[in-house]
Amino acid sequence: MAKCSICGGPAVAYIRYQRRYLCDRHFVEYVESKIRRAISRYKMIRQGYRVLVPVSGGKDSATVLTALSKLSREFGFEVVALHIDLGIGDYSVKSKEASIKAANKLGVPLIVVSVKEITGYTIPELARKARRPVCSVCGLVKRYIINLVAVELGADAVALGHNADDLAVYSMKSFITQDLSNISKLGPKTESIKGLAVGRIRPLYEVYEKESYLYALLTETPFLHEECPNVDFSSMENRLKVHINSLEEEKPGVKITMLRNMAKRIRDYPKPQLPISRCRHCGLLSSGDECSFCRLTKRITGQPLGPRAREVVRSLVASLQLAPRQDSAYKS
Ligand code: SF4
Ligand code: ZN
Ligand code: ZN
Repeated sequence: MAKCSICGGPAVAYIRYQRRYLCDRHFVEYVESKIRRAISRYKMIRQGYRVLVPVSGGKDSATVLTALSKLSREFGFEVVALHIDLGIGDYSVKSKEASIKAANKLGVPLIVVSVKEITGYTIPELARKARRPVCSVCGLVKRYIINLVAVELGADAVALGHNADDLAVYSMKSFITQDLSNISKLGPKTESIKGLAVGRIRPLYEVYEKESYLYALLTETPFLHEECPNVDFSSMENRLKVHINSLEEEKPGVKITMLRNMAKRIRDYPKPQLPISRCRHCGLLSSGDECSFCRLTKRITGQPLGPRAREVVRSLVASLQLAPRQDSAYKS
């Protein structure tokens, strides 16, 4: 059996691009040191920050939650978790269970927002009513709720679970389709817009998908092994993933090199040209006088539901009884 290159104990992983074996303890430390380095290198989190971690119940958000809740003591920041109940049958029931178990195990406060409670419909029902692909409606609703909860919490950053494999694929896809302004949003961090939107950070920017999976397993963080039934395995993303993985096999480390270089040049990519304004219904970020969530829900129910969503989220945030954040830069 292979031995850990540091302590000689039984190895659980081989880090190809570093050509070394690691035991369980040293593997966990290795992943945490990568996350710690990314937080410092890309100035993701400062002392005193309140960081919102959206948890889907999957491995990547479980890894972000575990690592950040450990590192929060070292860096002096606060972590709050958010789970969005999408109402996608059995999958959503199990994801919610896994998210609650993970947050309880780590002692992290958790907010659970139900799409059905806010809109009266589940995600598949909203998609049918809007006659749009389910993932496009789901993405829109999730982005809206995550930002809304972050604003109401007075959070300083939203920590997303995108790993190095995801980001390599998204950037290649944006390059192939020449959606270059999208690349400017795929860096390790995006900035906040006061009162309207909270910036995103990606602590797993340099962590591979396999590493994220093994970290969640070894730290015994509860997570759901199955994927959403709506994942499209024939999508361009999934096909690109296969190609980039075979390139990584031949040239270990190529994804990380690409992402590091991209982070250095992120300001050179064009920014999205949409005007920044405030939705007249809910007061959050929009590119016109109505945000896409208010527009979608108005079309389906006859009412823009952003204001109702704000009310529901405000009372959920209040029930957590967190310390007030008067000094937060992101309160409207
Ligand atoms: Fe939503 Fe499932 Fe589509 Fe992901 S795969 S965007 S969770 S519907
Ligand atoms: Zn070891
Ligand atoms: Zn709105």
